[in-house]
Amino acid sequence: MEIEVLRPIFTQLLTPHGIAPVEGFPEEPRLLFKQTPNIEERAKIRFILGRQVKFEQGQEDEVNRLTKHWRAKLTPQLENSTETFDEQDNEYLEDLASEAPVIRMVNHLLERAMDLSASDIHFEPEENCLKVRCRVDGVMLLLEQLSQKVSAAIASRLKLMARLDIGEKRLPQDGRIQYKLGHRTLDMRVSTLPGVHGESIVLRILDRSDVGVSLEHLGMPSDILTAYNDLIRQPFGMILVTGPTGSGKTTSLYGTLEKINTGSQKMITVEDPVEYQMQGITQIHVNAKIGLSFAAGLRSIVRQDPDVILVGEIRDQETAEIAIESALTGHLVFSTLHTNDAASAITRLQDMNIDTYLISSSVLGIMAQRLVRRICSHCSADVALEEGEAKILGVRAEDYPLIKRGTGCERCGQTGYRGRVGIYELLILSDELRHVISQGSDANVIRAQALKEGMRTLRQDALEKLQQGMTTPEEVVRVTRAV
Ligand SMILES: [Zn+2]
Repeated sequence: MEIEVLRPIFTQLLTPHGIAPVEGFPEEPRLLFKQTPNIEERAKIRFILGRQVKFEQGQEDEVNRLTKHWRAKLTPQLENSTETFDEQDNEYLEDLASEAPVIRMVNHLLERAMDLSASDIHFEPEENCLKVRCRVDGVMLLLEQLSQKVSAAIASRLKLMARLDIGEKRLPQDGRIQYKLGHRTLDMRVSTLPGVHGESIVLRILDRSDVGVSLEHLGMPSDILTAYNDLIRQPFGMILVTGPTGSGKTTSLYGTLEKINTGSQKMITVEDPVEYQMQGITQIHVNAKIGLSFAAGLRSIVRQDPDVILVGEIRDQETAEIAIESALTGHLVFSTLHTNDAASAITRLQDMNIDTYLISSSVLGIMAQRLVRRICSHCSADVALEEGEAKILGVRAEDYPLIKRGTGCERCGQTGYRGRVGIYELLILSDELRHVISQGSDANVIRAQALKEGMRTLRQDALEKLQQGMTTPEEVVRVTRAV
């Protein structure tokens, strides 16, 4: 049996019924099911496969793994027609985008990205090919390399799905796609950018199951978790989470709001975009086109008498001023800043012309964070830290007798990593620190004082996670290089 024949059977007959062939199929003619298929279903599958197959009960996890395995293996073919066509002919492009092979290919790519729990998917036309990559656990992975000839058809299909103007290829466009995968509906933000070799299209997946996790499961060391839990139960003041894009700040803040959302307080957020919808919380989406900026949203929020406010990000002086004023007038305010470490958040606010006295009296604490990739538990093996690695990390190898490494397996896509874990640095403003800050001290002085009071740095937390076998030396270096 040809593998090409198996593909439609797999996508249309087996997957919807929760059935997957074993790895050795078709030589080993066994099918695993999650729920016993009825007699007609079995007969139909046997008839279409044209052979005897054995049906067996499988573990849900194992059937899911096999489904992903076959999806990765059975890439649909796109006719790489040599025919050239006028790319300005929009009607033709629309027809092309509605053809079954193109639809199948795009659906296949979206589903593969979901299988890998990607956060975004990138369609990148190059001179001779169309690269489809996705970001998994913060790192880009090549999903598929297609012929450059199909680039326009795929771009048109994505634009059609996002209800964008197919004919507009010279200006960037933004849209949304809702994609149904099984019983889940995925919400994606789409942006197009005209490049030299065609339109580059990025889909950002908004509805991700890993966003709604509780604070306890993010990887905070227990002492930081305890201190942070105290901090977020203060009646008013400002709490900042800092780090570059993709460092898990949003997840931490959602976890924080979930934690304190008991129903007895009014909570409002202004975000760009709203990534995850929470029960009992009013969430506003920033919209620059109609003038709804963070500052404008925040000004309106305050008039709605909230107890807790989340401002997605403080980017400018105006937002910073309103946020601080709110924190000083009885509101608990959460926000993020793009700084490398906790102490630098103070100087960033100073740079936005915020009075040092206002900073020291409003800010309760700052948490800096990053995400390191977690070693895959299915293929991890004990190893020793090598001398060279110890040197790069600036530690003694004998302090790290048993660290772990993933050897690569199917569950982690041969990367040796699966999922991520946060590393944290929590700076809590003591009276002494408030004094240091109100004098206009720079980040080094603030950091030195915080360390004196027992703060542990991001690097120290990352090294502890290395010692515990949660991540690798490479990840520690990659993620904490700048701190
Ligand atoms: Zn693995």
